[in-house]
Amino acid sequence: MPYRRCGDSGLLLPEISLGLWHNFGRVDDFAESRRMLCRAFDRGIVHFDLANNYGPPPGSAEETFGRVMRGDFVCHRDELVISTKAGHLMWQGPYGGNGSRKHLLASLDQSLKRMKLDYVDVFYSHCHDPETRLEETMSALATAVNSGRALHAGLSKYPLKVMKKAVKLLAGMGVRCLIYQPPYSMLQRSCEADGVLDWLDDQGIGCIVFSPLAQGMLTPKYLDGIPDGSRAARPDGFLQPGHVESRIDRIRALAAIASQHGVPLQHLAIQWVLRHKAVTSALIGARTMAQLDDAIDALQSPPLTDELLAAIDAVSPA
Ligand code: NDP
Repeated sequence: MPYRRCGDSGLLLPEISLGLWHNFGRVDDFAESRRMLCRAFDRGIVHFDLANNYGPPPGSAEETFGRVMRGDFVCHRDELVISTKAGHLMWQGPYGGNGSRKHLLASLDQSLKRMKLDYVDVFYSHCHDPETRLEETMSALATAVNSGRALHAGLSKYPLKVMKKAVKLLAGMGVRCLIYQPPYSMLQRSCEADGVLDWLDDQGIGCIVFSPLAQGMLTPKYLDGIPDGSRAARPDGFLQPGHVESRIDRIRALAAIASQHGVPLQHLAIQWVLRHKAVTSALIGARTMAQLDDAIDALQSPPLTDELLAAIDAVSPA
């Protein structure tokens, strides 16, 4: 597994990181979740990304991780980078989700308990909350770091303008924003088009991009419809059949490009996000061991040529 420096920090991250958004909840098979986590670690994926609300039910992905942490990873804590987030609705009542200090710090304490950890490596504000003063949200991240519950602070899905202010506020509180987490794939290029990637690179802030396979749409699985068992077919999946149907022409065109160049579509998708110098790590999901292994194997694909990149741009421009 190759490792990349996270911005200009001292932290190295694997080119592929594993997220526990889907497939690690209480509704999933614990034995398979555990096998995937151990397999990922054995293949050099030392970064696991969580959030308070991952499951379903919310919180259960952190519980799954906590069971593996206690049973398998307990001697390996210093070899792991573990992140969690707060901000989206997690529990009922007025403190269950927003950008307040109350929510963020209570949620972080709950996450640490569920994951059987003393600290996380990165604590993220999961999304910008326009109703809460940015100073308050950033002060919660700073407290998380200064109290030792988190080594670093991160931001996710912030609009560029707000992120610039947030990074400045954090710096004023003595905390550097380590990393930013946006969606990025051949089907979702807004962070490239909006100048976010270039700005992060310029600032020396790392970038871990989520859903590089566009939740499975950048694999051959949806080319001929929605197969049983896929995320788009699951009642608890975030991906809806309509998302696939509205993109199917672009997906088929990208699949044809991959095939002409002799590369599996999913390998092309992972290599494509990693081609950008601002990107530290591709944050994937996996439902099976075979998917996990296949994603890591993408790193063996030949480098992308200018001709291939131009063909992708023509089909799916930034
Ligand atoms: P991906 O784009 O990598 O999608 C993963 C899914 O694609 C798998 O679960 C599987 O779904 C399908 N898949 C993977 N490999 C293959 C293959 N070889 N052939 C066919 N299908 C395949 O990432 P995710 O959308 O899962 O997101 C990854 C992580 O990013 C999350 O776990 C989370 O940590 C983070 N994230 C962060 C967000 C934020 O707001 N900050 C938002 C969303 C994600 P299937 O079940 O169909 O087989």
